[in-house]
Amino acid sequence: MPAKSRTTSRRALVTGGAGFLGSHICDRLIAENATVTCIDNLLTGSVDNIAGLIHLPNFTFVHGDVRTDLPDADFDEIWNLASPASPPQYQADPVGTLLINVLGMQRVLELARRCNARVFQASTSEVYGDPEVHPQVESYRGAVNPIGPRACYDEGKRAAETLCFDYHRTYGVEIRVARIFNTYGPRMDPKDGRVVSNFVVNALAGEPLELYGGGAQTRSFCYRDDLVEGFFRLMRHPDATGPINIGNPCEFTIRELAEIVIEMTGTSSKVVDRPLPIDDPLQRCPDITKARNLLSWEPEVALREGLERTISYFAGLRIGAN
Ligand code: NAD
Ligand code: UDP
Repeated sequence: MPAKSRTTSRRALVTGGAGFLGSHICDRLIAENATVTCIDNLLTGSVDNIAGLIHLPNFTFVHGDVRTDLPDADFDEIWNLASPASPPQYQADPVGTLLINVLGMQRVLELARRCNARVFQASTSEVYGDPEVHPQVESYRGAVNPIGPRACYDEGKRAAETLCFDYHRTYGVEIRVARIFNTYGPRMDPKDGRVVSNFVVNALAGEPLELYGGGAQTRSFCYRDDLVEGFFRLMRHPDATGPINIGNPCEFTIRELAEIVIEMTGTSSKVVDRPLPIDDPLQRCPDITKARNLLSWEPEVALREGLERTISYFAGLRIGAN
């Protein structure tokens, strides 16, 4: 089914649009003069993230759950980001997490099918589980523990990808599936439990940085501006369904990250050891050959540069709080 061509403003729905990444998508869509509806139940997001948009005539905020409250309106594109993303947050209500990802995805795809909209799905590197292939290429099928504490998220996202491809093959729904690797930057919730925000917030407060499992495990951190650029290149591509890795291929151990944050903040904080959470992946790094070739995209912001902006952001929040 070809995408609709429109001469009037593009109508976009962003689920999870009050979250860290979703709010940046809303910003960019508004900058492109789209008419934007954001639905969010504020489980992990905040209206503060969309405070600059909420009074605009072409922006509508719906305080609702993607499983039950999707607007019955016509859209040209739907960006599906509704899901908690931080391990402590998605494990706090595992049944809810699985259902948000599966039922929410199905509702989004049904809506897209009805109004002939293109769907962007925020999938994740977690579909690769604790990977035996390194770096991870899109053709790798992953090593997920289906009954572990991370499964509600990992299997939820895997099932969501399955739904995307089945709606695409069966009903011709246009899909764009991005597998997102660890992303950081301004508007992360300082309390959401992910490693960059935890380390920076604790370093700024002079509190210990908790290093899980010795810190030899690796991650590859993508700055949010790079990621959002990759999203838009994928969404605007005429026929790329994905899945496609969007992330930064520079890999760091978590101990290295702690050391960099300590050095950059000039904190007196020390590192303290904590146990490794169950099923915590030991290594993670995207192979972005496909994104480079298909989207002419690669990250431009190095870790230290992105951290500098992120540290300033969290430092500003602390000043604002005082
Ligand atoms: P986030 O927690 O800041 O944003 C998620 C948003 O979804 C929040 O605003 C939350 O309130 C909303 N939400 C949750 N359940 C909902 C529901 N049932 N109905 C409506 N809204 C709901 O996290 P984020 O980092 O912005 O992640 C956004 C998306 O990207 C998620 O789908 C996540 O799985 C995916 N992702 C993010 C990363 C990353 O590193 N940030 C990595 C991989 C995948
Ligand atoms: N981690 C840590 N200290 C923290 C938070 C996380 O050592 O305060 C580790 C965690 O065990 C994982 C990595 O940092 O190995 C990245 O964790 P995060 O929750 O940010 O994302 P994940 O990639 O695990 O989903």
